[in-house]
This record gives sequence, C-alpha cells and structure tokens, in this order.
Amino acid sequence: MLPSEPEFEQAYDELLSTLEDSLLFEKRPDLRKCIPVVSVPERIIQFRVVWENDAGELQVNRGYRVQFNSTLGPYKGGLRFHPTVNLSILKFLGYEQIFKNALTGLSMGGGKGGSDFDPKGKSDSEIRRFCYAFMKELSRHIGSDIDVPAGDIGVGGREVGFLFGAFKSYRNSWEGVLTGKGLTWGGSLIRPEATGYGLVYYVEQMILYASKGKESFKGKSVAISGSGNVAQYAALKVIELGGKVVSLSDSKGCLLSLEEGFTPSEIGEIADCKYNRQELYSLLSTTTFKSDKFKYIENARPWLNVGKVDVALPCATQNEVSGEEAEGLVAAGCRFIAEGSNMGSTKEAIDVFEAERLKTPEGIWYAPGKAANCGGVAVSGLEMAQNSQRTTWTSEEVDERLHGIMKNCFDTCVDTAIAYSSEKSDGLPSLVKGANIAGFVKVAEGM
Ligand code: GLU
Repeated sequence: MLPSEPEFEQAYDELLSTLEDSLLFEKRPDLRKCIPVVSVPERIIQFRVVWENDAGELQVNRGYRVQFNSTLGPYKGGLRFHPTVNLSILKFLGYEQIFKNALTGLSMGGGKGGSDFDPKGKSDSEIRRFCYAFMKELSRHIGSDIDVPAGDIGVGGREVGFLFGAFKSYRNSWEGVLTGKGLTWGGSLIRPEATGYGLVYYVEQMILYASKGKESFKGKSVAISGSGNVAQYAALKVIELGGKVVSLSDSKGCLLSLEEGFTPSEIGEIADCKYNRQELYSLLSTTTFKSDKFKYIENARPWLNVGKVDVALPCATQNEVSGEEAEGLVAAGCRFIAEGSNMGSTKEAIDVFEAERLKTPEGIWYAPGKAANCGGVAVSGLEMAQNSQRTTWTSEEVDERLHGIMKNCFDTCVDTAIAYSSEKSDGLPSLVKGANIAGFVKVAEGM
C-alpha cells in the first residue's frame, strides 16, 4: 500500500471525476489508458540539505524535485520553501503543473520541488547558505533542456538569485536553468507581475463572456486573499481596471479596506512589509494603516468577513476556501471566483460553486488555478524563449503575449467544456471541466 497523500489524492480525484463526468471517454476511449501513466511521476529526487545558521549551528532540511511529466517539454514548475512541504503537497503541485503548462500552449512539461525549510525569521545570509546547499544536489538534476525550476511560496527573486549563482558555481554554466531571474541577468520583464496580471486578464474574459460584453471590472468589489507576489499584482491590475480591492491576508489574519479599497501606494507598503518577511499586523502601527479605514481580523480568512463582493480571488495557498466559505461568498453576491493559488478551493467549495453555476444563465462562475493562474508559468516559458534567443523583449511585448495566452486559455476552457459537456442546461460552461479535459487531452495525445 502506498502512504496516504491527501493533497495529491485530492488533485487526482478532482481531475478524474471531472473527466468521468463528461463525454470525454465516450468520444475518446483511447485516452483512458493514459490516466494511470500520467498519474505516476517520471522521477522523484529526494535529498538532504545541510547548512549552517548564523550561530554556526548545523541545520538539516529535506529537499525534493518531482519530475512529473516531460511529454510537452522540459519539466517546468516552481520551488516551494515552507515548513509544511512534503511529498504529497509537491506531487499535487507537480500534477496540477502538467495540465496548467499544457493550457499555456507553450512547450513545457510539469514538475515541482522545494523544501520544508522556513524562510521566516531567517537572515539573508542564512537564506543564501540554504539556497547554495539546496542547489548543491539539485544542480545535478536540472538544465535548460531538462528541468527549469522557478519560484513559488517562499521563493522569490532574491532566492532565485542565490539559486542561480549556486548553479553557475557548481556547474560552470550560464544557462536559462531557472526562471524569475533578475532583469540584468537573464530575467524577463513582467515575470514578477505575470501570475497576478494573468489571473485578472482571465477573469476579465469571464466577466465579458457571462455578461455578454456588457460588464467589466469597473465598479466591482474584489476580495483577495494572500499578500505575496500573486496577490499584490492581481490587486494592482484590478485597481488599474477600475475595480475596488477590499481585502488581503496572510497566515496570521486578514486586512480589510471596506470604504474605498486599497490604493496602489498602500499595496506598495504591503509589498515592502512582505519583502522584509514581516506579518501584515506589523503594519497596523504605521501612519497609513492606523486609520479607521482598515480593519484587521486575527486568524481569519477574508471570505466571511468582506460583506458584499462581486469577485473573489484566492491567492494564498491550497484549500483556502472551505465549503462553508464558498456558501458565504455566494450569499454575499459573489459571481466570479478564480484561483491565483493552486487548488485554492476544497472539493466542498468547488461543489458549491459548480452547483450554483447551473442555477441561472448568468450564473456563479468558478475558474480553477490551473487555468486562471497559468500566466506566471507562461511568462516563465517566455523567459526561457528569450534566454534561448539571447534576447530581451519589451514589457509591452511580454504583456501583450501574456494577454493573448490568457485569452486563448479561457477560450480553450470554454470551447472544450462545451464540446464534451454532458450537462442538460443553458447555464455557463464548466471551466473546471474545460480546463481539466483540455489539459489532459493535450498531454495524453502527446504521450
Ligand atoms: N509556481 C508558479 C506556478 O505555480 C510558477 C512556476 C514557474 O514559473 O515555473 O505556476
């Protein structure tokens, strides 16, 4: 018997149940045999990471890279540094990544890696020593045509910098082996913004489609969770498009701005706070956030505290919307839910959103992370292309391509959901089914 892997089993069951609940295997019985094959990683690397803290004491962590599927291209996916990291979580993330990467239309396989190392409370030197120790082993297994890691939770530009420096010193090779690099040493413009911007571009398409071209983000209230890179740039893009961002959060609580919504300069202060690995509540004593325009709620997620909202964007971590919270969002009038995080909604939450979708023609519409947040890895793919060409594109060029990729991903999800639907309803097509079927068919045909 295999050990229990709850997060991976959840991702596997979610994919399989949506494929079964469609006409896919009736129309394409030949693809069924791919399920057991695609669900076992091609290779898993597990290793010991030994490093020294500032007090000179020896520290040991676990390092992993799950090389899940290389049908469509080199393994591609981020590295997560967080104390909860284990093989079940990395397998679920790697599994999602296979189909997400397929939905970008670019040539990338799926993988994921990371460590149970906790960057919180560590000095820059400690993080650098950890990254060098981690890359000492990982550098044997990656390469620009083999496996190209990037960031995820706990791994941002600073960590990618340390990891890239370590790779160069261990392998004596400058190559596009990591994405999310700094602009002066091979990074792509718009990569830091890409996941958040891409998420909002995807939701823009959802709003346009559901309202038959009549509505946009203008005037909409948007609840966002998280306060890292994805949440920050999603918030900035929502504001740019005329929406109002009413919440952000971190693992300790949520910060609400219920009157006018956050301003870009307030988001900037939040970004600085997070870059310094501080908690959101540390902002409450600053001049900006002291005022009574803000409310901080300890140990709470935003969903049941934001009041009436039109859009919800979970951008923190997996399973961050429960069934009860999904019901609360629906009761609060929320019509569009799209994940910046991977598997942000529990199975119970997805069931609530999917049941509501069918009730009215303009419905309640849910988009899973593997479609809605594929903009991040898509621009990573564009970074790989620029590295291979030894060139850099302008931000306008990258942003335009990102926009095109998100629109194409949305259209693919809608068209696929309609083509394989077994639902007898005039409601909106299921984006969960559309994303899962389209991603799976592409990989399965390739295999
Ligand atoms: N960690 C991000 C994701 O979940 C980005 C991966 C990448 O750029 O390779 O898609």
